[in-house]
Amino acid sequence: MSPEMVNIAYLIASVLFIFGLKGLTHPRTAVRGNFLGALGMLLAVVVTLIQGNLSFTLIFAGILVGSAIGVLLATKIEMTAMPQLVAVFNGFGGAASVLVAGAELSNTFSEPGLQTAVAIVLSGLIGAVTFWGSMVAFGKLQGIKMVPDQPVRYPGEQIVKVLLLLGSLALGAVVIGDYTAVSSYWWLVLAASVLGVLLVIAIGGADMPVVVALLNSYSGLAAAATGFVLSNSVLIVAGSLVGASGLILTNIMCKAMNRSLANVLFGGFGAVQTTSSADDVYGGKVKSTSPDELAMLLDGASRVVIVPGYGMAVAQAQHAVRDLYNILEANGITVEFAIHPVAGRMPGHMNVLLAEADIPYDKLIEMDAINPTMQQVDIAIVLGANDVVNPLARTDPESPIAGMPIIDVDKARTVIVIKRSLSPGFAGIPNPLFAAENALMLFGDGKKMMQESVTALKEG
Ligand code: NDP
Repeated sequence: MSPEMVNIAYLIASVLFIFGLKGLTHPRTAVRGNFLGALGMLLAVVVTLIQGNLSFTLIFAGILVGSAIGVLLATKIEMTAMPQLVAVFNGFGGAASVLVAGAELSNTFSEPGLQTAVAIVLSGLIGAVTFWGSMVAFGKLQGIKMVPDQPVRYPGEQIVKVLLLLGSLALGAVVIGDYTAVSSYWWLVLAASVLGVLLVIAIGGADMPVVVALLNSYSGLAAAATGFVLSNSVLIVAGSLVGASGLILTNIMCKAMNRSLANVLFGGFGAVQTTSSADDVYGGKVKSTSPDELAMLLDGASRVVIVPGYGMAVAQAQHAVRDLYNILEANGITVEFAIHPVAGRMPGHMNVLLAEADIPYDKLIEMDAINPTMQQVDIAIVLGANDVVNPLARTDPESPIAGMPIIDVDKARTVIVIKRSLSPGFAGIPNPLFAAENALMLFGDGKKMMQESVTALKEG
């Protein structure tokens, strides 16, 4: 292939990536966006391999094996295990950058030039941090015993990390100064690997989704650096897009929790002392209800909003929710779903589960759009959500979730909260909503309560 043809193919691939990302910004166009991105990657990979003089048989065999692994992962992995899978993908991206840059350095017989040398060092440093950081994130999310879920803290931890970073940079300087110092590169990779482990092991398991988004950004930066090593423009473009979008996602998640990135990385969330005890908040004020009573209330409603949270994912209640939605809509009741940006344990968690249950996309309303209309809601059903509907975020400046935007279910005429007990959510604090005048608790497993309410509605 002529260099012009290769560059045109890379340009088309880059455009496909950008249209792919654009498509991913809305659920309706997400499948097409995903397809366009994958098409761009296929084009980029095939052109690169042809350029490397690989035979079509080998390229085809590679595509077959890769597709088989992809199909297996897509069909076998549970939706709740998606964050772990993404962590592994990010990690492999980082490892690839380390190996490619190392191979380039070993095969270089002449001075590589400052730009390439710097790119090699960055690939090794960021790639190794990404790989080991992602492996620890995977271990925490998967609940592997060897990797503690709690933040691992020890005296002088920040000093150890700074020393490791400085050591890696010093080794990097040696590599930049002398391209034959290949062993210095691998020492750098070792130091950066330890740094990657220490950085992530110090963060609690519940904050892993934010860490995975950040590591996703790192894997993009490592890939972009490797693009400079190989002088491959499409790798630079793809890496930069991943780097930037990962950073934007990290920022969105931090904002939605009203926490700074520094607080996520160094904060140890969940260990916060709360200002009021559960007894003060709930004592004698909590009213409970039954599926039959919920069915009766729903019969008289004209607008219902369902607020799903982490508990819906745990209970796998999305299909039962769909049954309830069908019955209510068939009875002429308007049903909408209020989606908080950090409901659940990963970005888009609720959207994915509800889409899996075939809830129409236009029924999923973002928090900012639904909040101004909450006063006109007859019944708000909170299904396994807790922090994202906790009014303390608005009223208690001492609370760990102070300032976090919430879905204003407390403004609806009646609120039904479905969960198993009065246990707190992720932030570990009581929720005064459960004791509010207009709130009724339906205690039980999310799926079971939904199913029993559907049966009661059918019988009524
Ligand atoms: P929460 O973690 O606040 O609460 C979930 C509730 O679900 C619990 O109180 C639990 O109560 C209930 N629950 C658990 N299992 C079941 C079940 N089988 N049936 C019914 N209920 C059940 O969830 P939210 O979605 O409201 O909030 C998400 C939290 O996660 C926020 O604090 C957010 O900051 C944090 N977070 C989110 C990330 C994201 O990307 N989405 C990333 C990092 C953190 P009980 O035990 O009584 O049943």
